[in-house]
Amino acid sequence: MLREDGAPDHGHPHPDPHPHPHGRLRPGGAGGTVTIEQKVLAKNDLLAERNRTWMSDRGVVAVNLMSSPGAGKTTLLERAVTDLGGRRPVAVVEGDQETRLDADRIRRTGCAVVQVNTGAGCHLDAEMMRDALTALSPAEGSLLMVENVGNLVCPALFDLGERSKVVIISVTEGTDKPLKYPYMFAAADLILINKSDLLPHVDFDVEQCERHARSVNPDVRVLTVSATTGEGLAHWYDWLAEQR
Ligand code: MG
Ligand code: ZN
Repeated sequence: MLREDGAPDHGHPHPDPHPHPHGRLRPGGAGGTVTIEQKVLAKNDLLAERNRTWMSDRGVVAVNLMSSPGAGKTTLLERAVTDLGGRRPVAVVEGDQETRLDADRIRRTGCAVVQVNTGAGCHLDAEMMRDALTALSPAEGSLLMVENVGNLVCPALFDLGERSKVVIISVTEGTDKPLKYPYMFAAADLILINKSDLLPHVDFDVEQCERHARSVNPDVRVLTVSATTGEGLAHWYDWLAEQR
């Protein structure tokens, strides 16, 4: 279900339209079984590849932002689209199970945005991304920021056709998250440790978190930032500028 500002909602709840892998993927191939989950992921990968081609033909670069709920994705985005909007065209895809609250926050900055509601689903997939691209029709050379559904599990498995994946963890969470959710942190091109302004008030060891992240993803870039004070954001913007 895709909502744009003013577009009518379907008005009825959807069951999860996309079965997806819960539990361990079983190997297919000779003597094995190709599971429904593998077929779902294979179909998703095909659509993601089409999205990737569609965007690269237009010089559009998508960045997929993933985190637990409450890590500060939307606040980081509000700040980024405001700070970067003058440098290059920026557009946003907001993923949430319900509501258009986050899209409303982005829209108030003047940035082009579309809200995707996943209903019972717990991640964005390539088909939703394709529909969002159609609705947004981002300008040539756009930076497209995608805020995935707050969840450190299955969003890691679903390629959207993005250029890169950013995983955000805030200092109010445990430093052991990279160990508990290794697939997500292993998939990251960049890890943002957010809410650094709260470090004096919480028991969060940035270096330990970084060590845990590197134990599953040795070469990952890690930046410490605060969307509130602006600390470290210039480094994040430099990194975004490199994603072409
Ligand atoms: Mg949000
Ligand atoms: Zn899911």
